[in-house]
Amino acid sequence: MAREIVARGLLLSLRHAPCAHICRYCLISETRKGSPLPFSRFEALVHRFLDWKIANQRDDIEIRTFVGPSFDYDIETLRGVGRIRARRGDKFQILNLGGLRIRDHDALNTWLAERQAAGIVGFHTSLAGCDKTHDRWNGRAGDFAYQTAILRLAGERGMVRRERLFVARNTLPQFDRLLDVLDAIPGEVQNRYVTLFFYAGLARRYEDERITEEIRDTLPERINTLRRGRFDEWRSEREWIPMLMESASAPRKLIMKLDVNEANIETLENSSCDAIFAEREQIYREDYRRMPGLDELCERYGDPTNRQVYMLRRDLEQKWMDMHARATGTSIPLD
Ligand code: SF4
Repeated sequence: MAREIVARGLLLSLRHAPCAHICRYCLISETRKGSPLPFSRFEALVHRFLDWKIANQRDDIEIRTFVGPSFDYDIETLRGVGRIRARRGDKFQILNLGGLRIRDHDALNTWLAERQAAGIVGFHTSLAGCDKTHDRWNGRAGDFAYQTAILRLAGERGMVRRERLFVARNTLPQFDRLLDVLDAIPGEVQNRYVTLFFYAGLARRYEDERITEEIRDTLPERINTLRRGRFDEWRSEREWIPMLMESASAPRKLIMKLDVNEANIETLENSSCDAIFAEREQIYREDYRRMPGLDELCERYGDPTNRQVYMLRRDLEQKWMDMHARATGTSIPLD
């Protein structure tokens, strides 16, 4: 029997600032493509949805946004993203460094000063090993030096940072050096945590980089203490399977994505929020009807002997759906 879905909300997405490089572990497959749609039209649509949620007392759903894939915004966009976050009672104060264009020292200092003046208090970096290893994962020579240089300049200005460090087979041997480099950078570290690659987007190609139970269970203390936050459940496929099967018949709760671009904005502007939401639900529901339910996917493709480690139930569901798509030609549902 196919899997039912429950829509927990809508993610309005705008490809506004393409990445200047493509990471091999990227969750989003088409990071280079930007939309010429002016941010102001996107923002107006988002505010309409937020008004609709309040007016209809839809406390059961979330309205989320993604303006990316990089955060290389101009100041006007930055303020607009801040206005949207403020509607959700949140402050927009941290910028991701991934995907930024290269700027020389002077331009970088100006860029930092402008963002600090606009209310940005710090940066988030994602690092996969050091030096050439990180550069290879991130698809740009010199990216490790560039990101750490920005963190240094920001730290000297009193800005904070958050660090996500990827654990993969080829980043593990570099962890001591990576942590030493980061510890030597001035400024407050608000959060430092380790994660695995998700099974999503481009990262699906790197299953051979996934650590095993044995590696997980013998991680050095310096790394192990950084397993925290939302992504600290590291289980192998064989460990996840019984847990997944306990809730296999439950509907999948998901946030539905809606790409907003120059081709559909006019239709969206002229449609009611109710109609847009209902149409997305319909599309997602039909998409999931093509796929077998979780128990059937597990029975056909699950490997109860696999000791490779994943962070999310979703990673395995996605992996099994990929296997089903390859075996049958059925296309994978929207994510
Ligand atoms: S910076 Fe982020 S969004 Fe851009 S390619 Fe890398 S992982 Fe993907």
